[in-house]
Amino acid sequence: MKKIVSTNPGRNYEVIGEVIASTNSEIKKKVDDANNVKQKWSDLGIKKRIEIVNKAYLAYKADEKQIAELITKEVGTPMTECRSEVKWNWSYVNWFIKNVESAIGEEITFEDKTSLHKILYEPIGTTAVITPWNLPFDLFIWGVLPNLLVGNTVVYKASEECILTGKFLEEISSRVGFPNGVLSFIHGDAEEGMYLTEQDIDLIWFTGSTEVGKKIYQLSGVKFIRSVLEMGGSNPAVVFKDADIDLSVNSILSSRFMFCGQTCDDAKRKGAKVLTGGEITQNFEGAYYYPTILTNIRKTMRVWKEEVFGPVLPIITFTSEEEAISLANDTLYGLGSDIYSEDKKKLLKVAEKLKAGNVTFNGCNHFKPFNPFGGYKNSGMGREHGIVGFRELCQIKTISMNK
Ligand code: NAD
Repeated sequence: MKKIVSTNPGRNYEVIGEVIASTNSEIKKKVDDANNVKQKWSDLGIKKRIEIVNKAYLAYKADEKQIAELITKEVGTPMTECRSEVKWNWSYVNWFIKNVESAIGEEITFEDKTSLHKILYEPIGTTAVITPWNLPFDLFIWGVLPNLLVGNTVVYKASEECILTGKFLEEISSRVGFPNGVLSFIHGDAEEGMYLTEQDIDLIWFTGSTEVGKKIYQLSGVKFIRSVLEMGGSNPAVVFKDADIDLSVNSILSSRFMFCGQTCDDAKRKGAKVLTGGEITQNFEGAYYYPTILTNIRKTMRVWKEEVFGPVLPIITFTSEEEAISLANDTLYGLGSDIYSEDKKKLLKVAEKLKAGNVTFNGCNHFKPFNPFGGYKNSGMGREHGIVGFRELCQIKTISMNK
């Protein structure tokens, strides 16, 4: 029997619990159950599905405090951030519930006296939803609920790093009254995740690292099924001379240091100057690292090229608009980019040239349920959120008729 142990990174990795990993036959059975019920779930119709998803929303909301406390213990997100992270999701759920019907309702593409043409958005079937360790509740909500609303059944796997959170979400969901097989949970690490993706599923919705996302993309190619992939990012912020400096500094610091994480080392050896931080804290035991600001950055440094998963801000200067654009695009990723300037024309001109899925001006928050979210290049494939996000989870059928 394989067990996954959960530890607290904020308390020197003390053990806080364990979960027995799902066996292959359990995973297979959950996918079979999801396949057996998928037609019924689709036929139930959108209004009834909304009713059931709304019950799920109320159940998660009733336990929001416990969810936040568990995530803080397992993942290390500071409690105040974690509480607002969990609450923040209610605006997403409300938007999903309110807008799904119009997003996937039938759409007339052409009509005249002789003919009518329209589109139907239909569920794809059974979706494997696989999420990473960071933002575990957001990604559960963003992956699972839109799939259920459009009529797909879901087999969900949380990360092994927050296995107790996955187990707790399973317990809450079991009280909602979903028909058997509509939403089920498997527990495990990469091994169980891989086994799930190899089963008879119709869609994969994955958020996680680029390395794993690419493997999933290859597998979905072989199976010839769709996958929606949200992967790594390394978001540049471009600050022009004419920017409001106080606003830029506050906005960049809060987005770069909002979620604490892991460490980097390589930049110091290659000559980066550490303005502040740059070392593991001495007074706490666990995954702690001082907020770090680096200058004198070279393009050969890993901190420039790779996704830095920690409280580290590398700074590089530029002298022209063209150079700023070229530096901002000099990354394998393309999730987000921020631009700071008081010149509206310049903001738009630069935004058009940035290779990123989301571009924000002067610190405006793009994380809204109506905005499609996803990346260019190694940051992903497909989009979540917004009308586009629902449609990614659907088959499109065109109906044409003579009158
Ligand atoms: P990870 O890719 O290691 O794991 C993600 C999930 O995939 C886990 O549940 C894991 O068990 C599972 N998994 C691993 N190998 C698998 C395989 N071969 N087949 C199927 N499932 C497999 O990611 P992580 O370390 O947990 O999370 C950090 C990464 O997630 C970072 O790269 C970060 O940028 C990314 N992320 C992206 C977004 C976004 O919206 N784009 C949001 C949060 C995190």
